[in-house]
Amino acid sequence: MSDDPDRDDEDDRSVDASGTFRFETRAIHAGQEPDPETGALMTPIHANTTYEQDAPGEHRGYEYSRTANPTRTDLEANLADLESGTHARCFASGMAAINTVLNLLESGDHVVAGDDVYGGTHRILTQVFEGYDVETTFVDTTDHEAVAEAMRPETELVWVETPTNPLMNVNDIEALSAIAHEGEALCAVDNTFATPYLQRPLELGADVVCQSLTKYLGGHSDTIGGALVVDGDGLDERLGFYQNSVGATPGPFDSFLVLRGTKTLPVRMDRHCENARELARWLEAHEAVDRVYYPGLESHPQHELASEQMDDFGGMLSFELDGTLEQGSTVVSETEVFTLAESLGGVESLIEQPAAMTHAAIPREERLAAGLSDGLIRVSVGIEHVDDMKADLQRAFDAAL
Ligand SMILES: *Cc1c(COP(=O)(O)O)cnc(C)c1O
Repeated sequence: MSDDPDRDDEDDRSVDASGTFRFETRAIHAGQEPDPETGALMTPIHANTTYEQDAPGEHRGYEYSRTANPTRTDLEANLADLESGTHARCFASGMAAINTVLNLLESGDHVVAGDDVYGGTHRILTQVFEGYDVETTFVDTTDHEAVAEAMRPETELVWVETPTNPLMNVNDIEALSAIAHEGEALCAVDNTFATPYLQRPLELGADVVCQSLTKYLGGHSDTIGGALVVDGDGLDERLGFYQNSVGATPGPFDSFLVLRGTKTLPVRMDRHCENARELARWLEAHEAVDRVYYPGLESHPQHELASEQMDDFGGMLSFELDGTLEQGSTVVSETEVFTLAESLGGVESLIEQPAAMTHAAIPREERLAAGLSDGLIRVSVGIEHVDDMKADLQRAFDAAL
């Protein structure tokens, strides 16, 4: 799937547990039998709250749609399969999924998390769960000694994201899972940027995988959703208890939209990766650009780890414009193929300036120390023609510099 010479052609995501079907086939068929009553190929949108019982307590698998809904069940079966897990639980947003992992904690417990985790994850840890006496230590998760040192007897969870936002740091899932397990903590991996097509944390030792379905899995910027996937019954039962008790579940229409998205995940991701690789190389050679952050470039500090851990390098990249905050703002305002917007993972290309948008709340000195320069620009590379993207950026550079 990749034309990059240092990529390994052996495709180890190829077969499922029964050893039969490859990822591309499972993306379309896993969890999606034709409707037994009508033969309809596509999972119906079960817009429905309650279910007839044959006798009190005797139902056909469904009682009430917060607890379970057939459209959601099919999506959960599909995602469990794609993430190489046994069970998936879907939520109304990625944050609702993350909240549910944190629901496993009790007051007095401790969390170790990456110092560049998603902003919403940082916020819920510091502004919600700290209030429940769950403390988090944020560390550089590429530094395994620092992670091991941050572990305490009361550490119950290690939270890992890879690649991270916006500098595309790559974290070693296998090594971090081992550190977590040594301390008898769970390891959770936010797999939103890579998707299961490129990276399957459960195969590398993680205990729970989190997805914002809003991004690549939905893939069309038209629905918000989240998912958790595990391998084994025990943890799934605990997560299911909180899924039902807290109740932040997705509706059937949202579940349907994500199911529609997962079918084309492999072909979309192949094009996202191909375009991002081409654009990263073009930017790296461009005189207006100081530095490009993309795990697929040999200049990326963790390129080797990314090559081992991921099947390809994804559609997200950042670059440092050789210019001021204002010039960066002009670039992101001038582009037409790249829409100025937060979020990522849809078929359309998006562009944003962390220093003025997603990371504007961080004081400038602190922001610069974290490697987020004024001229840093992040793009979600879509599946439009890459030549149109280059021409668009060139026009914006000419207008700004
Ligand atoms: C968007 C995102 C989330 C949160 O998901 P929502 O669906 O917006 O709630 C979590 N993690 C990462 C890496 C994300 O990009």
